[in-house]
Amino acid sequence: MSQEQLAVQQARRAFLTGRSKPLDFRLQQLKNLKRFITERQKEITDALKKDLNKSENGTKFFEILGLEGEINLALSKLSDWAAPRPVKKNLLTIADEVFVQPEPLGVVLIIGAWNYPIAVTLQPLVGAIAAGNAAVIKPSEVSAHTAKVMELLPHYLDPEMYPVVTGGVPETQELLKQRFDHIFYTGNSAVGRLIMEAAARHLTPVTLELGGKSPCYIDKNCDIAVACRRITWGKYVNCGQTCIAPDYILCEPSIQDKVVSEIRKCIKEFYTDDPKTFTDYGRIINQRHFKRIMALLDGCTVAIGGENDESQCYIAPTVLKDVKPESKVMQEEIFGPVLPVVPVNGVNEAIQFINEREKPLALYVFSSSNKVINQMIKETSSGGLLANDCLVHFTLSDLPFGGVGNSGTGRYHGQYTFDQLSHLRGCLIKKLNMERINQMRYPPHSEKKLRWARMLLLKQVNVSRWSQLAHAAMLAVLAVFVVKRFLR
Ligand code: NAD
Repeated sequence: MSQEQLAVQQARRAFLTGRSKPLDFRLQQLKNLKRFITERQKEITDALKKDLNKSENGTKFFEILGLEGEINLALSKLSDWAAPRPVKKNLLTIADEVFVQPEPLGVVLIIGAWNYPIAVTLQPLVGAIAAGNAAVIKPSEVSAHTAKVMELLPHYLDPEMYPVVTGGVPETQELLKQRFDHIFYTGNSAVGRLIMEAAARHLTPVTLELGGKSPCYIDKNCDIAVACRRITWGKYVNCGQTCIAPDYILCEPSIQDKVVSEIRKCIKEFYTDDPKTFTDYGRIINQRHFKRIMALLDGCTVAIGGENDESQCYIAPTVLKDVKPESKVMQEEIFGPVLPVVPVNGVNEAIQFINEREKPLALYVFSSSNKVINQMIKETSSGGLLANDCLVHFTLSDLPFGGVGNSGTGRYHGQYTFDQLSHLRGCLIKKLNMERINQMRYPPHSEKKLRWARMLLLKQVNVSRWSQLAHAAMLAVLAVFVVKRFLR
């Protein structure tokens, strides 16, 4: 039996013992996960320095903080999330108990990507644990040092319930042959298709956190200096290897030079005149990606940057101007520190440009005009939309994070992760008494019964626990009325 089969079998067996169901167990595992990121912080920051040249504080800022926030939220909200959720009733079910009961799905497979390997692998794990699932964790082999640190997880978590499987594509493919109850994948869309195909064989539901080209429209009616500061930050953090990094800028030709000069100022301010030796500027993950990104510059006008060093996987923060929509750099997600500016004639043309392409993971609009912002919201579609900033929507647990169409399916963060990895079971508990009132649904289906059915079924009642008694009393009156007038 392969190590992958063994891990899945072990997780399945552990899940079937039922020990992940009590909230105390889940809370303890979440605390243990928190202890892992606290006690192993040095190993994590060292590994990310080696994998992506991330600075220590950069790792704390972009990988640890969000994960810690998600764990804290789950610890404080778990009992609410896991509790039965009352729903609206109709008059027919007014005396019944009707609620949604979240229940664990079973064994979840979490496949992580390499760009924020801790965050994108362990944030879904928070939801998997909170929802009472077992989980097989497959970190990306591309960020190899960080994957090695994640191998320590079983020293903190229940090792049978949450095994870590390391390795590359063959290991992931072996895992995908196994049966899971949910697959949570973060990575590119091409592999996303393979994941969905493999999942379909077992009718396993999937969450696909994918990427794509996230556009950024700068309206001429806006503070261009502020817009460019925020865009420069969102683009070049982690050397552009961020799924929601602004992929390209759309703006009117009349402001293009101003945009380029403001971004130049910000690059200098954030990363000095020599980003190559600056601590807070990252590296491309490997030579394959280095070559891929450099090839995207072919035939383009480099307005800023372009310097590179293959031996260090270094590419300077780069801006391309007057980029043609048909150029190579506009055909695929860049996922590197290259920012094309594509001139368009105003918001209508920008919207048309966006709508002619795949639905993006994030859409950014910079404008002082609410009209322009609202038009962008109404006339486009994307995983998320931000006006006048970049990336920060990722930090909010109450905003669902995820793509649409080619940029992904499903959503997570906060309670959304819990719900995504739970089965929301609809439950109705009726008593065996009061059979007379139920007569109206049994044959023969007379006109009179139909009229009563309309009244009893179509009237929605919002029943909180507080008003249960009042409604039960109402029902009793109604029952007497029905029995007297109709069913005698
Ligand atoms: P990657 O190469 O690390 O692949 C991700 C996982 O898929 C790995 O665990 C790997 O083992 C597995 N894999 C790769 N090829 C496979 C195959 N042929 N069969 C089965 N499994 C395979 O990561 P990547 O795809 O290069 O990640 C970058 C992409 O991820 C970008 O498109 C980015 O936008 C996207 N991303 C999205 C999010 C999000 O939250 N939406 C976050 C981070 C990254």
